[in-house]
Amino acid sequence: MGILRPVDPREPSSALAQWKRRRIVKEIVNRGVPATCARCQQRELSIYPRLTYFEMQPLPEMVNVSAPVIEQRIPAALLICGNCGHMMFHAVGSLGLGEIIKSDADSDPDDELEVDQP
Ligand SMILES: [Zn+2]
Repeated sequence: MGILRPVDPREPSSALAQWKRRRIVKEIVNRGVPATCARCQQRELSIYPRLTYFEMQPLPEMVNVSAPVIEQRIPAALLICGNCGHMMFHAVGSLGLGEIIKSDADSDPDDELEVDQP
């Protein structure tokens, strides 16, 4: 693959587990996302070790209705260019990874399955 640098192993324990970051990067690559920064075209992208959440605000005309307004947050992976600092976001749900970010596993469950195969 070679487009996104490996994550820093010194990240705090509360950061997104490395296997989750690898899965996110793998999925982004599999979907044909270019390996270069959208702004400076350099190959200096790396994944930030935490997710970002976009808060979705209700429409103003919906605030006064009697039904409760459900707040929504969209979890997103953040890619940062080490050259120019441009930031790119990918919704993990759209990548089909909404469930893995909730996992408490220390390692990728899919990797463990592969080990058991002959
Ligand atoms: Zn850049």
